[in-house]
Amino acid sequence: MAACVSASCAPPQSALPSPSAPSAPTSPLFPPSPLDAWLEAECGGDASLPFAQRLAQARLAALRATLCHAAAHSLHYKRSLAGFDLAHINAAGLAALPFTTAQDIVHWQNFLCVSQGEVQRMVTLRTSGSTGQPKRLAFSPADLARTMSFFRAGMSQLVHRGERLLVLLPGAERPDGVADLLRQALAPSGVRVLAGKPAATAASLKADLMQHRPHALVAAPHQLRALLALVQQDAAFARSIRREGACGIGGIQSSGDLLDEATRTALEQSLRCTVLDHFGMTETGYGGGVQCHARQGYHLRALDLWPEIVDPHSGAVLPDGVQGELVLTTLQREAMPLIRYRTGDAATLLTQPCLCGSPAPRLGAVAGRYVWEAGRRVVRAVPKGGS
Ligand SMILES: [Zn+2]
Repeated sequence: MAACVSASCAPPQSALPSPSAPSAPTSPLFPPSPLDAWLEAECGGDASLPFAQRLAQARLAALRATLCHAAAHSLHYKRSLAGFDLAHINAAGLAALPFTTAQDIVHWQNFLCVSQGEVQRMVTLRTSGSTGQPKRLAFSPADLARTMSFFRAGMSQLVHRGERLLVLLPGAERPDGVADLLRQALAPSGVRVLAGKPAATAASLKADLMQHRPHALVAAPHQLRALLALVQQDAAFARSIRREGACGIGGIQSSGDLLDEATRTALEQSLRCTVLDHFGMTETGYGGGVQCHARQGYHLRALDLWPEIVDPHSGAVLPDGVQGELVLTTLQREAMPLIRYRTGDAATLLTQPCLCGSPAPRLGAVAGRYVWEAGRRVVRAVPKGGS
């Protein structure tokens, strides 16, 4: 195998600061999700209460504060949320509030809750509507800091102090893009973050991996399928990047679309690494939720996102465990909060505690997107994009 460069062959240490352990019971089969320790440290409250109860209280407080913030500072929500008792709202009351759609945020200025000078990152995305007008999303420094905090917690499962993380996602190299946020988030933990070429050709992948010798990757499923094909065709290359001791690729975070099980399993076996999937979109501030080693859905940024699953036709909220359209309210978002944003993704909220022991909310696999066909909304497995 190729020589392992740098002092990164030392035994890995967690990139995550170690807050107190979660109070939820854990299974001996899987380590606890690092998001629980992160959430528990953030949610505060009466330490004598169970973590799940304190988290629920903190989420409700964050929901009410976000709704009041949006109604006070955004032109759109000042109108649409007028007359609701936002300071005392609960989940049932939230269901009575109007939705926000992708078409609404074409008029992004109406959603801003801060001055344009206080916006650090503005992202422009295409919409699928008939007008084709782009939608724009704004993030303040505080919004990006919360995303970085999530990245630090989630990535601690896959990359460790002294290691190199290569980010291959398209657009990741932009200032305050995914690679840059990961770099800022993980640098204090001693992880070096590098941006690779987003092209998924065999030649560019091979060149990036040989040049950077990463210990972990963040890549989209189509890039991982290209990597798997390359590894299967080129045994010498596969040996050179395979995990051996503390060298080679030990962890892969898949992001941007749903990773198929066959690719995940084959990569894990070929490279002797761990592959975990991530759910996110630009609207969630890139990061949304991440699998733990039990791989039973995505552990959500529960203090940053309030998910609902609704009937894609009537808009009525569906019970947990039933598939419908994912609707998200962004908690603690400063620059441009989104209230009951219809993502178009078909998903479920899982009802059973995770095998890692976490009691925190989890999103099931995203089955595809709802599209209109002959006047009806149907689920189609189409690439999500945009993250
Ligand atoms: Zn879990």
